[in-house]
Amino acid sequence: MRLRPRTRTRPTSCTFALVGWLGIAACTAGGQDAPRNRAEASVVELASQTASPSASTFVTASASAAAAAGAPNAAPAEPFVAAARARAMLFPDGVPSAAGCSAEPNAANQPVKAFVRCMISHRFAEHVQAQELALSLFDASGDVAATEVAFLMDGGFRGDIRLVAELPVGPYLKHLRWVESAKKAMVEFEAGISKHATSKLNYRQGGVLWKFARSVGRTTPSAYAGGWEIGYNVSGSLHSSESAVRDTIFHEIFHLNDQEHEGWSRRVLGKLVDVIAERCKSRSPCLKPYAPGKTMVRGGTYYAFQPDNGDIAHEYAAELATRYFNEQLSMLRGQTLSEAPFKCAAPENAEAMKSLAQEFFGGVDLTPTCGAQPHR
Ligand SMILES: [Zn+2]
Repeated sequence: MRLRPRTRTRPTSCTFALVGWLGIAACTAGGQDAPRNRAEASVVELASQTASPSASTFVTASASAAAAAGAPNAAPAEPFVAAARARAMLFPDGVPSAAGCSAEPNAANQPVKAFVRCMISHRFAEHVQAQELALSLFDASGDVAATEVAFLMDGGFRGDIRLVAELPVGPYLKHLRWVESAKKAMVEFEAGISKHATSKLNYRQGGVLWKFARSVGRTTPSAYAGGWEIGYNVSGSLHSSESAVRDTIFHEIFHLNDQEHEGWSRRVLGKLVDVIAERCKSRSPCLKPYAPGKTMVRGGTYYAFQPDNGDIAHEYAAELATRYFNEQLSMLRGQTLSEAPFKCAAPENAEAMKSLAQEFFGGVDLTPTCGAQPHR
């Protein structure tokens, strides 16, 4: 049993237009990759900020990007971070001329992708290992590793939390390595699943702006996200290992997708989750077969069913998606699952997994038929 204290944080700075709560991230665990040290980790909340001004700076298709930039054919086909937003977060005071990047990202002779890549390269120019990772992250996913703008986050009863910019270099390099590794696994997952899908995947993992930050005198929040931007706290208590970070990131990115699918989790899984919660009344032994992840709230129950934690359908779905990711990635890699697929534990699980796969992942399920394969 993994227990963790639970906290809530609530960014209310003017740059965070809060429209609702999403649970966070590390409520992941689940599967064979659950890290050992999760017991000490804190659960924080993930604030949705879809109304953020920054959200409008993101584009998801090359056509709209090219049109906005006035540079047809210059934008990449995959989701990406808008050049102006990348510039603002990489070089708030302007791109140094010494960088050799065009001063005007939308200039006709400056393809947007090359401009952003040039800025990333220059931002990490003094840190060779980080530069390599940041460029790899950009090349694989279109993600931009930048820094947060210092601000005070309203931590509710815990008071204000000061977050400052922190480049993931030196003692914090491991965080950039873990993010890069996680996104690489997600690209592998996406490519692998696509080969088996009968329809196009309706899921976005790329084009994320990473705002690396450090909390002053605190270890929360570990992360917060909205509008395809993720704030990553290098002092976050949840970021204890590569697998913990990978699960956390998948959980967070699923929340963003859930939002884009007009609250799919509540619309489609809400009733199923509510019925289970009503039947079990927060009794952990009763909830155990229905919990997609192993993470529990200290003094509470499985994170997916924890009361007073926002809409449990949101958290259940993010846990479910992370379990799906881990199970399918294991199958794609030819590995044996360490326990029976989630779908086999209860009819409700099978129904939820099927709905998830159909909505986001082309209906793919590579896990063995229930009862057909012994587990490790
Ligand atoms: Zn969550």
